[in-house]
Amino acid sequence: MVKPDGVQRGLIGEVISRIEKRGLKIVALKMNVISEDTAKEHYAEHAAKPFFSGLVEFITSGPSVSMVVEGKDAIRVMRAINGATNPVDAAPGTIRGDFALDVGRNVVHASDSPDAAAREIAIHFKDSEIGKYSRIDEVCLY
Ligand code: ADP
Ligand code: MG
Repeated sequence: MVKPDGVQRGLIGEVISRIEKRGLKIVALKMNVISEDTAKEHYAEHAAKPFFSGLVEFITSGPSVSMVVEGKDAIRVMRAINGATNPVDAAPGTIRGDFALDVGRNVVHASDSPDAAAREIAIHFKDSEIGKYSRIDEVCLY
């Protein structure tokens, strides 16, 4: 997900480009303003944290871009592309390490496990919104 700060800073294309160039496959994509209920469900694991209300307020504050990404070790690779949660600790070359400084404005979200991915995809997408296609590098022409 490109969070509202990433959208406001014009980083949608940058994020999508990094995902595509790495070789991962975007199979669903939408831009919308997440509702408060959806945000609370999405971040349910953080409900007891002191930053929860600020996080929900922020993630619902403007449009965000949600994607379903497939590929080899897609979850681990997406987390690596995004970088450490606190951008101050994120390595240069990662999205957070290149574009962010504030943990509350860290540009992107990615699921942290297969279970989380399944849960989060179901929150944001209907099955019919997820496409199936082959990337050109998956197609054997000869
Ligand atoms: P990640 O997004 O890397 O999976 P977490 O699941 O731990 O990180 O936290 C979810 C989001 O909550 C973070 O991306 C960040 O925007 C926000 N967050 C995490 N920790 C803090 C904090 N200490 N203060 C403010 N916001 C935080
Ligand atoms: Mg998380």
